[in-house]
Amino acid sequence: MAGTDEILVLKAKIQELLEKAENAQVLERLKAEILEFISSEENQQAIAALRAEFLAAISRAKDSHTLDQVRIDALGKSGIITSYLGSIGKLPPPQRAFVGKTANEIRAHIEEALEARRLELAASELTAAIDARAVDITLPGRAQQMGTRHLISRINDEIAEIFLGLGYSVAQGPEVETDYYNFEALNAPPDHPSRGLADTFYVRDLSGAASAVAGESDVLLRTQTSGVQVHVMEQQKPPIYIIAPGKVYRRDVADPSHLPQFTQVEGLAVDKGITFGDLKGTIEYFCKQMFGQDRKTRLRAHYFPFTEPSAEVDVSCGICGGEGCRFCKGTGWLEIMGCGMVDPNVFGYVGIDPEVYSGFAFGMGVERIACLKYNVPDLRMLVEGDMRFLRQF
Ligand SMILES: [Zn+2]
Repeated sequence: MAGTDEILVLKAKIQELLEKAENAQVLERLKAEILEFISSEENQQAIAALRAEFLAAISRAKDSHTLDQVRIDALGKSGIITSYLGSIGKLPPPQRAFVGKTANEIRAHIEEALEARRLELAASELTAAIDARAVDITLPGRAQQMGTRHLISRINDEIAEIFLGLGYSVAQGPEVETDYYNFEALNAPPDHPSRGLADTFYVRDLSGAASAVAGESDVLLRTQTSGVQVHVMEQQKPPIYIIAPGKVYRRDVADPSHLPQFTQVEGLAVDKGITFGDLKGTIEYFCKQMFGQDRKTRLRAHYFPFTEPSAEVDVSCGICGGEGCRFCKGTGWLEIMGCGMVDPNVFGYVGIDPEVYSGFAFGMGVERIACLKYNVPDLRMLVEGDMRFLRQF
């Protein structure tokens, strides 16, 4: 764009040229050139004004969306700069080159400014997004809900720890068991009442093989972990000191003292010279470890098909200390497990000589031990999933 001084110089030059003009033809040519110059000045000023307007709009744009609108207005298909460049063809040739060059320069300049502002806005928008999600350190902390082990799993491990300390190891067996391991090899003959349909979950046998028992098939959900004893004695020669923890199933309706699925820990010791005294000592040691040194134990004669003699074990009530209360039904004692000396018939099934070896076995319900240890009145509370109850342990 020409400045005032340049225009004055130009004026003087035109005056000089006009004075020197030799004829009308030269004069006409000069007139035309002067007109063209003025016209291109106007164009240049218009373009410069547009440039200033767009650059201001670009720096004013507060977000990417507004900036994109400015880009469309200037350089879009029907944008002002685009249509200006499109109209160059209609200008007289001397102006065309000049205006074209200027307009292209301005387009490049606007594009550059748009890109710079785009990057700026993208950076600040990212920062704003990060800030929005950032931690407000002035807010009170949100406590992490720490998971805890379920009481049943904990008591199960506690029982295992006590026996591991006595030199026992942990054995596992299948939850779907055959009639042989669950009953027969444990000295419960086919007519034994515990094998009734009403007590056991039989698995439907699709093999078509004839069943040897009164139930649906020879395959069932184990009613006790005692079958693991048989598996272990088949595979391992004495001395044997194992516990077998695991889930067992009974056709019981859930009530305060029964669950259709519960956890049992079975124990077995087979060695030379094992006596009933060893069994009693082991049980007493276990009870004191589990319930406390002040708790007493007693054995009552009982019957189990796979042990002879057999006994039920009671531990003194932790609430009344043996005086009798509602929790112990006024007896002062709580029944915790069954036990006995391994029946020689059971040894016969697994080829262990009862003249050389003897042993004892015991079995307890983990849920029952948990309830007795923490004075929980109802077994169902352990499996109902009420976190207000379970979080206490
Ligand atoms: Zn009591």
